[in-house]
Formats: sequence, structure tokens, C-alpha cells
Amino acid sequence: MPIQEKPNYLWSILTMKCPRCRRGHMFTQSNPWKLKKTLQMPEKCPECGQPFELEVGFWYGTGYVSYALSFALSVATFIAWWVLVGLSTEDHRFFWWMGLNAALLIFLQPWLMRLSRVIYLYFFVSYDPDYKQTAVKSFDHKTEDYYRDNPGSPKS
Ligand SMILES: [Zn+2]
Repeated sequence: MPIQEKPNYLWSILTMKCPRCRRGHMFTQSNPWKLKKTLQMPEKCPECGQPFELEVGFWYGTGYVSYALSFALSVATFIAWWVLVGLSTEDHRFFWWMGLNAALLIFLQPWLMRLSRVIYLYFFVSYDPDYKQTAVKSFDHKTEDYYRDNPGSPKS
């Protein structure tokens, strides 16, 4: 039993906390709409020391996550629009949805870019209640695999 309560998974993602300790902030600035600093991250988690960019080019994969998030959001707004406003082939309501949805996606882009990175890192790094004692998870260039706990004995 960990002494401290395990922070909630979804809540930790939404508040953009480090996946390993779920306490340290992953981004330097709390406001994603300060566009010059949107993707500014500390090299390591300020709380547990977990490196965020596990290898060079690690964040390239976030493109897929961001695409999936935008798609899911569009489906959600489409359903909401359908229920609340309605759709018809006789008027322009469908195009209004398209326009407003596009505007919403553009507005949310900085936040979505951050969220994609957070979700992406959560795929690779899991919560560790003993983060103060154990080694950080990192990329092993010999086996090209991600491992944690014991450097030298990759988890397979
Ligand atoms: Zn951490």
C-alpha cells in the first residue's frame, strides 16, 4: 500500500501532470494560450526526475494522438449540434457546424497539442507509487526498448 493516495488517472492527464509521480507539472507555463511557451517543458519532472522527452524525436508520434483527439472532439460537437440545433438538407445548418467546429479546433489547438504530449507519454510511463526510491523510466539504445526500475535489465 502506498502511503499517499494514488492520484486519479484521468484527472492527472487533464491537469497535465507527470505520468510517473502524477504530481510534477509537465509544462512550464500553466496557460497553453501563451503561444510562444505552449510546448515549453522542463527536461525532467520537477517532482520525481522522470525525463519527458524519452529520446530524440519522441514527440513526433504525438501527431497521431492529436489527430485522434480532434476527430473525437468533432464527433462530439457533431452529435451535440445534431441534438441541440438539428440538421437538415434544406438549410445551411451543417455548414454552420463545420465552420464553428473548425474555429473551435483552431482555438483549442494549443491545449490539444499539450494534451497529446501528455497522453503520449502516459502510454510509455506508468504510475510508480515508490517514485522516490526507484529509477526513472528511460530509453535503452541497445535494445531499443523502454524500461523502468532496473537500469541494465530491460523489462520485456
Ligand atoms: Zn514526476
